[in-house]
Amino acid sequence: MNDIEITQAVSRVLSKYSKTSPETAVQSASAAVTTPDRDSIEAIVASVLAGRQSSAPGASPATGDGAFATMDEAIAAAKQAQIQYRHCTMQDRASFIDGIRKLFLQEEVLQTISRMAVEETGMGNYADKLVKNRVAAQKTPGVEDLLTCAQSGDNGLTLTEYSAFGVIGSITPTTNPTETIINNSIGMLAAGNTVIFSPHPRSRNVSLHCVALINQRLAQLGAPANLVVTVSKPSIDNTNALINDPRVNMLVATGGPAIVKTVMSSGKKAIGAGAGNPPAVVDETANIEKAARDIINGCSFDNNLPCVAEKEVIVVNDVADYLIHCMKKSGALLLCDKQHIQQLQSLVLNEKGTGPNTAFVGKNARYILQKIGIDAPEEVKVILIETERDHPFVVHELMMPILPVVRVENVDEAIDLAVKVEHGNRHTAMMHSTNVEKLTRMARLIQTTIFVKNGPSYAGIGVGGEGHATFTIAGPTGEGLTSARTFARHRRCVMVEALNIR
Ligand code: NAD
Repeated sequence: MNDIEITQAVSRVLSKYSKTSPETAVQSASAAVTTPDRDSIEAIVASVLAGRQSSAPGASPATGDGAFATMDEAIAAAKQAQIQYRHCTMQDRASFIDGIRKLFLQEEVLQTISRMAVEETGMGNYADKLVKNRVAAQKTPGVEDLLTCAQSGDNGLTLTEYSAFGVIGSITPTTNPTETIINNSIGMLAAGNTVIFSPHPRSRNVSLHCVALINQRLAQLGAPANLVVTVSKPSIDNTNALINDPRVNMLVATGGPAIVKTVMSSGKKAIGAGAGNPPAVVDETANIEKAARDIINGCSFDNNLPCVAEKEVIVVNDVADYLIHCMKKSGALLLCDKQHIQQLQSLVLNEKGTGPNTAFVGKNARYILQKIGIDAPEEVKVILIETERDHPFVVHELMMPILPVVRVENVDEAIDLAVKVEHGNRHTAMMHSTNVEKLTRMARLIQTTIFVKNGPSYAGIGVGGEGHATFTIAGPTGEGLTSARTFARHRRCVMVEALNIR
């Protein structure tokens, strides 16, 4: 019998006992206790078991940092914590969320995790990681996201409430390691769940550091232990153990197509936040100077790591030269020499030419240019290349600041091509135009989860645009920009023939 089964069995027996002879059975044990309900008994048993587990011979005790030697132990801890967490009030939850926000908004913590992420993964840039981590802490919705719906009438009152799924397995990417942990922790805990993170092995240290900081802060706030856990050695095997464990109620995968497909085939409730290849369309009605600035800023943000970042530009011929001119003024270097372009292709694509060479993902433009013998000035943020529409740089998600530009005859052709190169990912697209009819046409045809008009891509995730922040954008499974309510079940509570006060 495992701890959970013991908890449930004791709870069952005690709740029957207290109902039949509350005075003799319960009050004799403690004068302060009257008729304990099933919930409080579960809480007491869970807390006793928490103590029992950490002192059990042979058990691997929690370090207090939320990192466990095996996935089995991490899941057991999160499962037990879930039982305890159910007894916390909404105010408790709000205070834990507030604590996590304040923790990551401390300048020193922000700087440490942003620096660690860049150093450990070798990807992205420090200044933009600061922005991303800050927005994750500030703008990820908390318990206020869980709005109850009420319907009342002659037959009484019905409430539909957002209720916890239970234990969530969250698989996180190497491109946004800390942002995703901050964002998912806030959203998942707000909805009443506990979380087991399975980070990318390449971002192990910084991910474990974030989980440890969260555990320390939650302990200071009196939260049950192990609301947020992970494993000390993240690996694909551990991720698979997480996916296949029946104690895990929901899976959330933020990553490429392979992991999204795996969680969606797991037989569990799964949220898949997958790859994108966001196009930016520019037509002749756009404010070209601003479009150029926005595209370069969006494309170079964290060295193009965000899944929402501009990956190719499709521009109407009439304004193409001026757009390229303005993009050069905003920090792009236009690569024209055929030999350089060939060298670049061999360098940054994998051997088959079907995707990026991972050694260059998230590197900055000057680093990449240096490798092909070009010493670019400091202000260069993006490498611009004019290409055909079927060039691998256009077709594949590279996640580096290389921006192919494709010319087309008119805006309708631009929109059609954007739809094609987005590959039905339903992820993100941008359009720079003042033609409302064409903006609407593109929005309708491309069907992306995020469609940014006249702004940089990051406006779509709450950086300089209205709306909440998320780093888990669930296109494939349709939840969109995830927040606390995404990680909750809808439950109906019906009071018959009462509480309707109209
Ligand atoms: P990745 O797919 O290589 O890894 C993501 C996570 O899945 C990691 O934890 C990794 O260990 C795990 N994983 C990958 N393949 C697995 C397998 N076969 N079995 C078990 N576990 C597996 O992705 P990455 O390089 O870390 O991140 C970049 C990708 O993620 C890009 O495609 C990007 O567009 C996408 N992404 C999407 C979103 C979104 O919100 N939609 C956010 C960030 C990143």
